Amino acid sequence: MGGDDFISKLNMTIDEAMQKAGFTQRFIDDIVVPAMRVNYGQGVKINGFVGAVSLAGTDSGLWAVAGGNKLVCNGLLYAAKAQLIQGTVTSVQEKVRSTKPVVLSIMSVDFPNDRDETEKTSLRSEGNTVTLYEISYITDRGPGLDLYDLVVIATPLNKNLGNIKFVGFDPPIETFSKPYQQTVATFVHGRINASFFGYAKPCQFPLSEILTTENPKLFIRSISAVSPVNPVPESDASKDSGLRVWKIFSPEVLIDEQLHQLFESYDTVKVKTWLAYPRYNPPEKIPPIKLHRAIYYLNGIEWAASAMEMSAISAKNVALLSYHQWYGKDDHIDQEDLAERLKTEL
Ligand SMILES: Cc1cc2nc3c(=O)[nH]c(=O)nc-3n(C[C@H](O)[C@H](O)[C@H](O)COP(=O)(O)OP(=O)(O)OC[C@H]3O[C@@H](n4cnc5c(N)ncnc54)[C@H](O)[C@@H]3O)c2cc1C
Repeated sequence: MGGDDFISKLNMTIDEAMQKAGFTQRFIDDIVVPAMRVNYGQGVKINGFVGAVSLAGTDSGLWAVAGGNKLVCNGLLYAAKAQLIQGTVTSVQEKVRSTKPVVLSIMSVDFPNDRDETEKTSLRSEGNTVTLYEISYITDRGPGLDLYDLVVIATPLNKNLGNIKFVGFDPPIETFSKPYQQTVATFVHGRINASFFGYAKPCQFPLSEILTTENPKLFIRSISAVSPVNPVPESDASKDSGLRVWKIFSPEVLIDEQLHQLFESYDTVKVKTWLAYPRYNPPEKIPPIKLHRAIYYLNGIEWAASAMEMSAISAKNVALLSYHQWYGKDDHIDQEDLAERLKTEL
């Protein structure tokens, strides 16, 4: 993966990209389709870039965080010494103030003070006034308002997501109408119905992951056994009981009848419906990274490929871009020979 040619994969389907690379239709139908269905809830009409990311995700040796991914966010907040206001942002509006500016942002980006205040404010000040962004939000303790110099939006601004209003911008700040794909994750603690999958007895059921090909009659996209990050040796009793935790991805919430088809018996069911990732339809147009003078948008990158690593790359790019723009270091932005220089540095 990589190189100029790889970027063109955004404008073709993974089906076309794999055919062009010489893979057979049978390989695509039996191996590639199931990988796309489990990772993105869609078939091989998704763009070739996200398709390749999806195939990379089928490899073994992926990492999981003991205690949950949330710990990564907690660690980052701690390391950044950020002040977190836990709430829902409802609107962003530009405000002109005559006060002396304070450097703040939603993510509390703490830029080193290597230029003086006059230079810093030149980006957004006129005479004795300064233009800031007013963020309105709601917390458990009620509504709140704060002023910021920089705003980074880190949630999709698509239909039914984000729900942030950009008030009074001319031209208006666009939100995006293209839809996100629904995926329902159902976790079941139970005994799988081995006969449904063609096996005589649950204790002889050898599979821990079942992926699916394209078939309109199927009501699930995948079902897999969930194992702890640190595997605990299975006792003979639990092996014999055939009880496991299973994770099912489906397009819709499963009804009882469907659960009874999949499981011989079960005692716990947890359901979570997600608007999970973009509904891809190449050629893909990626939303802008900069929505306004100092409003940046991370989640556009999901239209190339939605994955945690992609969001981390997007976040790093926005941190660098906003830093360089804030300090007027234009020569550090879009450096033509950067990739070459980094190679020689390494
Ligand atoms: C079922 C499922 C399985 C997935 N599996 C994988 C996988 O195996 N590997 C992988 O790499 N990726 C996977 N992904 C994709 C991955 O979860 C996303 O790429 C990643 O979460 C995107 O990160 P993010 O921070 O940009 O957005 P999100 O994780 O969506 O975070 C956005 C945050 O913003 C908050 N928010 C929304 N609106 C507001 C508002 N108005 N005010 C304040 N806060 C707001 C939301 O509550 C949320 O906490 C999966 C996604 C789903 C749904």
